[in-house]
Amino acid sequence: MTNDQRSDLIRLACEARKNAHAPYSKFLVGAALLTEFGEIICGCNVENASFGLTICAERVAFSTAIAAGHRRFRALAIATSGGHPPCGACRQFAAEFCEDLPILLIDCDQPDQVSESNLRVLLPGRFELLVT
Ligand SMILES: [Zn+2]
Repeated sequence: MTNDQRSDLIRLACEARKNAHAPYSKFLVGAALLTEFGEIICGCNVENASFGLTICAERVAFSTAIAAGHRRFRALAIATSGGHPPCGACRQFAAEFCEDLPILLIDCDQPDQVSESNLRVLLPGRFELLVT
């Protein structure tokens, strides 16, 4: 990931966060996913009155990217108030497509302070279904 791509990921994750539909939790999340071809695909969380139907920003970004034909990714940026890491479901969802994914955790209240992690660190012992 280049410095320009990193800056774009941070900016676009923060912008995507503004589109979040979170009337119940008020916890707005934006995600920006960098594909192997350098394209950036965004997502935001979308809550529902039937809470189980709520989908996280990260899975929206991944699903949108998958629907567009992408399968390999270079980085994921997540923007929240507080710089929170992805939930367990999103970690497993991402692990379907990439084991070693750099993840930028952005605190939108302090966007200049970005914490860097990696999917491999956040999800040790991921579930794998070995099909023969
Ligand atoms: Zn999640």
